[in-house]
Amino acid sequence: MNGNSEISVPVIIAGGGPVGMTLAMALHAHGVRCLIVNTETGVRRHPKGATQNARTMEHYRRLGISAKLRALGLPADYPTDVGYFTRLTSYELARLPFPSEREKMQAIAEAGPTDQVPEPLLRLNQMHCEQYLFDHIRTLPGVTVRFGWQCLDFADGPDGVSAEIEEISSGRRETVRAAYIVGCDGGRGVVRRKLGIKYDGGPTGPAGYLNGPMVATYVRVPDFFKRVPHKKCWQYWMINREVRGMVMVVDGSDELSFGTTLRNPDDKPDPAVIARQFRACFGQDVEFKFHDHIPWTAGHALVAEKFGAGRAILCGDSAHLFTPTGGFGLNTGIDDAVNLAWKLAAILQGWGGPNLLASYEIERRPIAKRNTGASQDFVRGIGATPIGEAIDENSEAGERARREAGAFLSTFTEEFASLGVQLGARCDDSPIIAGDDTAAPPDDPHVYTPSAVPGGRAPHLWLKGHVSLYDRLGRGFTLIRFANSNSDTRQMEEAARARGMPLTTVNVDLDAGRELYGRDLALIRPDHYVAWRGDRLPDDCASLIARVTGG
Ligand SMILES: Cc1cc2nc3c(=O)[nH]c(=O)nc-3n(C[C@H](O)[C@H](O)[C@H](O)COP(=O)(O)OP(=O)(O)OC[C@H]3O[C@@H](n4cnc5c(N)ncnc54)[C@H](O)[C@@H]3O)c2cc1C
Repeated sequence: MNGNSEISVPVIIAGGGPVGMTLAMALHAHGVRCLIVNTETGVRRHPKGATQNARTMEHYRRLGISAKLRALGLPADYPTDVGYFTRLTSYELARLPFPSEREKMQAIAEAGPTDQVPEPLLRLNQMHCEQYLFDHIRTLPGVTVRFGWQCLDFADGPDGVSAEIEEISSGRRETVRAAYIVGCDGGRGVVRRKLGIKYDGGPTGPAGYLNGPMVATYVRVPDFFKRVPHKKCWQYWMINREVRGMVMVVDGSDELSFGTTLRNPDDKPDPAVIARQFRACFGQDVEFKFHDHIPWTAGHALVAEKFGAGRAILCGDSAHLFTPTGGFGLNTGIDDAVNLAWKLAAILQGWGGPNLLASYEIERRPIAKRNTGASQDFVRGIGATPIGEAIDENSEAGERARREAGAFLSTFTEEFASLGVQLGARCDDSPIIAGDDTAAPPDDPHVYTPSAVPGGRAPHLWLKGHVSLYDRLGRGFTLIRFANSNSDTRQMEEAARARGMPLTTVNVDLDAGRELYGRDLALIRPDHYVAWRGDRLPDDCASLIARVTGG
C-alpha cells in the first residue's frame, strides 16, 4: 500500500459511531493508544434510538461519564411512558408507565444494599449521546481522532496490520501501522467485507410494521404538547387500519422522531407521502417542519459468522444487526467494546495470554445471538397486535376493538424493561472463566437474577455510605474479599504482579453481599464479569491467573 505518510499506533478503530467511540474511551482507560477514523466529519444530527440501557450506563459510569450523559437526557421530570393510540389526537389504547429520571434517581437514593441497578436505563437520544462522546474523545490524549477520514483498505501481516486511510475533503492519504484493527464500521463496513465474513440469520418473519423498510423522519411540530390531548409519553405508537407510525420525543421539546414504513427497500423517502402518513397518525391537520429523513431496515436478526480473523476484529453493528425492538443493538455493541478493550490492553501490555483474543468471539457471539433473538421475539409481538375494523369508530364495536388491542398492548412492558437481557448475559462456557460446580440461574429475558457463579455480571452492592461496589473496582482485575474471610490474599496479588496483571484487592464488609456472592472471595474481570470465586485462594494462584487472562 502506498500512503503519503505513515503513523504507528497500537489499535486503529475503523468507524466512529457510538461503539467505536466507546472502544476508544475504554482503550484509553486501560492505557492503550488508538486512532479512530470515521467517514463523517462530525455526528449526524438525526435522531435514532434513545436507549442507553442499564449495562451500557454501568460502563459509562466506569468511564466517568454517566452523570454527564444523564444531564443530557429527557428533562428530569419527563415521564418515559410508552403510549399506544389510534391517532395522536384520538383514543388512547394502552399506556406502559415508566419513571422519570428524577424518580429513577430517587429510587437509587433509597435502594437497599443488594439493589442491582445502580445505573438505570437512560432515555437519551443516540445523536445527543454521540455528540457528547465525540466531544469527549477529543479531550483524551491517547486517542487520535480522524473524523472526515475513511478507511480504504487494510492488510494483515505477522507483525501487525497496515491500514490505508484517506481524508475525504482533500484526498490526502496516510498509512497507519497498528497491532490490531477493529471494525466498528457498521453493517456495511470495510473490515467485515475485506475479511469475507458474512452475517448468519435473516429477517424476523413476514414483513410488517417494524419488520422491513422504514423511514425515520426528524420533524418539529410547534406546540406539540398543547395539541396532543394525552398525558406526556416518551414514545407514542399509532395503531389503526390506515397507517402505523411511532413518534418519539427527542429532548422534551417540539422536536420529534417519526418512524413509519417505506413500501420497498430501494424507495427514496418521499416527503409528500411521509407528510400524508404523519397527518394520518396525528389524526388532524397539523403544522410541522421536516428536518430530514433516513431510510433504514428494521427486522434484522443477523450475527456475523465470525467476529474477526487474525489481527482484525469486528465490534458493534459490524458483528451483529438488530431490529430496534428492545433497544439492544447499540447496547450489545457497547458491551462488545468493553469486553474487547481489556483483552486488547492485556495482550498489548504483555499480561494477556495466547487464548485471550479468541475468547472475545467465544464470549460475545453467543450473546449476540441471544440478544438478537430477544429483539426478534419482541418484534413478533408488535406484528400480532389485533386491529379491529372499527378501531377508529366512536361506537360500541369501536370500543370493543380498542379494548382488545389495548389488552394485547398492555402486555408489552418487558420490551421496555427487559432487565434480564440487559444484565443477565453470561459466558459460562468461556475457556477464560474458572467456573465452579454451581448452576447459573436460568436465562430469562425479563428477569435478572444476580449471581456470582463465574461467567456472569458481578452482582452489584451498595456499600457503606451508599458507595457503589463498581466505584471501588480497579481498572484491571479486582479481588473482592468479604469481611469474614480469613484468607491471606497475598499469593494471588503476587501471582498477578508476576504476570503484570493489574489487580486491586477490595475488602467488603457487608453480610448481604457475602450472602449474594456465596463465597468469601471473588475475582472480578475489568468488564465486571466474575472470573472465579472461592472460600480460599486456589493452591496455584499463578495458573488461575493464567487461565483468566488467556493462558
Ligand atoms: C433509524 C434508526 C433507529 C435506531 N434505533 C435504535 C434503537 O432504538 N435502539 C438501538 O439499540 N439501536 C437502534 N438503532 C441502531 C443503532 O443506531 C446502531 O446499532 C448503532 O448505531 C451501532 O453503532 P456502531 O457504532 O456499531 O455503528 P454505526 O453507528 O453504524 O457507526 C459506524 C460508523 O462507521 C463509519 N464508517 C463506515 N465505514 C467506514 C470506513 N470505511 N471508514 C471510516 N468510517 C466508516 C460510519 O460512517 C459510521 O459513523 C437504530 C438505527 C437507526 C438507523
